[in-house]
Amino acid sequence: MEQHFPKGNKTRIVIVGGGFGGIELAKKLRDKEIEVIMVDKHNYHTFQPLLYQVATGGLEADSIAFPLRKIFKGQKNLTFRVAEVNAVQPLNNCIQTSIGSIDYDHLVIATGSTSNFFGQDQIQENAMPMKSIPEALNLRSLILQNLEAAQIAPDPERANELLTFVVVGGGPTGVETAGAIAELKKHVLKSDYPELDIDKVLIYLIEGSPRLLGAMSPQASKKAHLFLTELGVKIMTEARVQSFDGNMLSLGDGQQIASANVIWSAGVKGVVLDGLNPEDVVRGNRLKVNEVNRVDGYENIYAIGDVAAMITEEFPNGHPGVAPAAIQQGRQLAENLLNIIEHKPTSNFKYKDKGAMATVGRNRAVVDLHNIRFQGVFAWFTWMFVHLMTLVGFRNKLVVFVNWVWSYFSYDRGTRLIIRPYHKKVPHEPAKVD
Ligand SMILES: Cc1cc2nc3c(=O)[nH]c(=O)nc-3n(C[C@H](O)[C@H](O)[C@H](O)COP(=O)(O)OP(=O)(O)OC[C@H]3O[C@@H](n4cnc5c(N)ncnc54)[C@H](O)[C@@H]3O)c2cc1C
Repeated sequence: MEQHFPKGNKTRIVIVGGGFGGIELAKKLRDKEIEVIMVDKHNYHTFQPLLYQVATGGLEADSIAFPLRKIFKGQKNLTFRVAEVNAVQPLNNCIQTSIGSIDYDHLVIATGSTSNFFGQDQIQENAMPMKSIPEALNLRSLILQNLEAAQIAPDPERANELLTFVVVGGGPTGVETAGAIAELKKHVLKSDYPELDIDKVLIYLIEGSPRLLGAMSPQASKKAHLFLTELGVKIMTEARVQSFDGNMLSLGDGQQIASANVIWSAGVKGVVLDGLNPEDVVRGNRLKVNEVNRVDGYENIYAIGDVAAMITEEFPNGHPGVAPAAIQQGRQLAENLLNIIEHKPTSNFKYKDKGAMATVGRNRAVVDLHNIRFQGVFAWFTWMFVHLMTLVGFRNKLVVFVNWVWSYFSYDRGTRLIIRPYHKKVPHEPAKVD
């Protein structure tokens, strides 16, 4: 394919991915005497922490997305293109994309991660992932379509399948999703579906390890467990999903749950581009990088965020796949790249852990800030404040804030719309989108 962007005299940094890491890096390169090209397959940035609220009808998709071109408005040294990057050709210093090849002097891979089904194809074909806005909208449609279908189900067994929700993975995403579905059941379904026997709506949360929120304190896990139980979620720990055929989920110990709604939040893996040395791909499909985020074995290829594994004594599996790690790596790499270009010394990356939090629902959240841990109403307000502040764009902050205030007082979740019906993907064919 034809060459895109002939190279000029300025040093060119190509960034693949406009996520948390890529954006921070590009912003820090503003007004510098270099050329920056950012390529993303979407024309918007996704605020993934609130995807579950889109999936459960709490927020509109538009309020958690932000146009990348708007973020970089006025940044004269940056060119943005919507394109899928397929491969890197390290020997030619170029990337192959859906719009042609692009040369680079320095390449930064900030492609993030995707759902990890751990090689279980049958589960992948039938369960619902939630890593992108289209996937969250698919899930919203599926939930609402299945609730509608349950009203006219030909037999009680089929109705039960349609009304049973199983969330797999007890990390923050799984906990938040299970909590949101439970609140939907408690506050909305009763009035939306007056003929529905609400006790028939079952919500399960399945976790492979002994406790929920394994990366947080035992205190946070215990409290999240309690909050979810209060909301009626059936929690199964030390349980592993073995198969799911679309209607029946089987666990390793032989138990079975009839369900047509299985939501997969059990793990992620890095999005690694083709053409790189396979030895650089380590656990979690992440690229092994050194202390300045340079990919092992390459002089001018770097990786940041979820796709990067900087293995240190403190972080033997790399840094956690969270937004602050991606942002901090992006910021540090900008400084280091400028130093590298000017032949100055670089500084090693040091992660500043800002703590962790998860919300279960109205007035129920857990927060771990190093030695300060709290749960309940104050934690919930803290969670809302932090998420509002980190959302990109004033309009989005305002829309989300107004939505949350409205939901708080009305107990409503306003976007229960099947705008784009979900059609199950036929294996090996792209999903149909209306
Ligand atoms: C449901 C969910 C909830 C989460 N909640 C939290 C939370 O509460 N707090 C927290 O800190 N973290 C949370 N995270 C994790 C956080 O979102 C990630 O750690 C963070 O997004 C990683 O940033 P990144 O820059 O590495 O990648 P991303 O933000 O994922 O960005 C990657 C970008 O690369 C683009 N891209 C990928 N492949 C290609 C390609 N081949 N060609 C072109 N473009 C490509 C994508 O379109 C995307 O824009 C959550 C994640 C999910 C999925």
